Amino acid sequence: AVAEETPPGDLLRRRDASFATVQEHYYADPPRIERGWRHHLVDTEGRAYLDMLNNVTVLGHGHPRLAEAVGRQWRLLNTNSRFHYGAVVELSERLTATLPEPLDTVFLVNSGTEANDLALRIAWAWTGRRDVVAIREAYHGWSDATDAISTSVADNPDALGTRPAWVHTLPAPNAYRGTHRGADAVRYGPEAAGAIRELTAGGRPPAAFICEPYYGNAGGMPLPDGYLPAVYEAVREAGGLCVADEVQVGYGRLGEWFWGFEQQEVLPDIVTVAKAMGNGHPLGAVITRRDIAERYRSQGYFFSSAGGSPVSSVVGLTVLDVIRDEGLQENARTVGAHLRSRLLELADRHELIGAVHGTGLYLGVELVRDRRDLTPAVEETAAICERLRELGVIVQPTSDRLCVLKIKPPLCLTRESADFFADMLDVALTEGW
Ligand code: PMP
Repeated sequence: AVAEETPPGDLLRRRDASFATVQEHYYADPPRIERGWRHHLVDTEGRAYLDMLNNVTVLGHGHPRLAEAVGRQWRLLNTNSRFHYGAVVELSERLTATLPEPLDTVFLVNSGTEANDLALRIAWAWTGRRDVVAIREAYHGWSDATDAISTSVADNPDALGTRPAWVHTLPAPNAYRGTHRGADAVRYGPEAAGAIRELTAGGRPPAAFICEPYYGNAGGMPLPDGYLPAVYEAVREAGGLCVADEVQVGYGRLGEWFWGFEQQEVLPDIVTVAKAMGNGHPLGAVITRRDIAERYRSQGYFFSSAGGSPVSSVVGLTVLDVIRDEGLQENARTVGAHLRSRLLELADRHELIGAVHGTGLYLGVELVRDRRDLTPAVEETAAICERLRELGVIVQPTSDRLCVLKIKPPLCLTRESADFFADMLDVALTEGW
């Protein structure tokens, strides 16, 4: 039977019978989404939901220019990237043009996991070493190597107890609820640098340090001032490479900055990007220096069948064009600032809101039972997400504690829709749970 003609309960049963149930899904009783338009999703009953969650679909759903470009390219040519065609060259040039000069060489892949996996292999080849430093409560992917450096407990409840010996983790530099809070958070950087120097002195200098330059799993929280400069310095002293995982934060979403690392005023050796780069199409990239990229040859050659294919390259180019032509980074800045101020105003009236994290359209609302002991309001967060769905808004909990509303909508979000979200959140918080 055609899936769309199947009653909802039957379709869920068929999903669980045919699709791996270990994969998590949104909602116990999910709306059946049939189509999307801009920052809205529409279910099979014709009900529209405001999509506050879809950090992959940066341009918005159903973008006609992207659909047109992809359709045209499919009819013309799609093949693997061993052939010679213009789009892969143009995309590589356009990507490096967004980055500071030494980052001039591109590898094209199909996902964030692949990009980070490749970044690690590049660092291993460059240094001839194995050890990697990552920060706790992060997620970098599901492959063997990227899973090893992911210590988010949402990913694996015994994440810290099950790391291979080559993985070294640093405390999550969380300025809201970590060991150093508020102004004290500047201590994370020097302490992390000290830990890296100790590792090096102990004969295990890192091949790489990897982290999100703007802390995604905390709900979109900036790293403390000076954090990456201090850590990058210690890693470079040890001869290691600094990898910026921009898979979630890149690019344009912060509004004020195109890339997350710009906020910390550092220059990574390797940048990884995916999600937004393809607006939902499987596309990712690793961008690094020519000399670092060349050393990868010691591993053999690099090839990805669909990475950088003509269709994928056209997707990547069109996404960059639309971000520029529709002023989406600027929209993220202005609508994001408006939304943030509305959320802060809600925090004045609702005790449950402990903090509003983030910049642009990379925001998180952290819900706590008590503003002094910061007890995560886990059940409340889940109940509020359910109620918001009834009210026509899609949003989900994030962070290791699942007490942060993850607010990372398509970058075409309008001021009116931002207001609708804030109004509905106000309703849900006022009603209680
Ligand atoms: N890094 C970060 C920071 C991510 O958020 C994700 C995806 N959640 C990944 C890597 C993995 O990307 P993908 O799902 O495309 O493999």
